[in-house]
Amino acid sequence: MICVHCDYEFDPKGTLKQLAGGKINECAACVEELGTETAIKYLGCASSDGKMGGISILAFESNDARESYREAWNNNSGMNIGKQAALNGTNTPMSGMKFKQMGENFGNSNHKGKL
Ligand SMILES: [Zn+2]
Repeated sequence: MICVHCDYEFDPKGTLKQLAGGKINECAACVEELGTETAIKYLGCASSDGKMGGISILAFESNDARESYREAWNNNSGMNIGKQAALNGTNTPMSGMKFKQMGENFGNSNHKGKL
């Protein structure tokens, strides 16, 4: 495909284009240079509930808010450090962070009929 801005031929399914976003007829370099990608990607947060992996899909108002939530979530949920996250006293505060929940999937807490 030929870029509408710079006439450069690019692969619309290539990794760079997929990461950069933007309109289908804009190459990745032009999307970044012109700032045409305005959407803020959803954030998927993995957790666990009983024996099942859970996931929450969240929407944020800005990329900064998304990034700070993601860092806090990864720190507090134990990514790369395991159970130490629940035991240490340096968890990142997550109160007051604004987001909208777009979807979730959790295990049934009434597993096998037990309370
Ligand atoms: Zn271009």
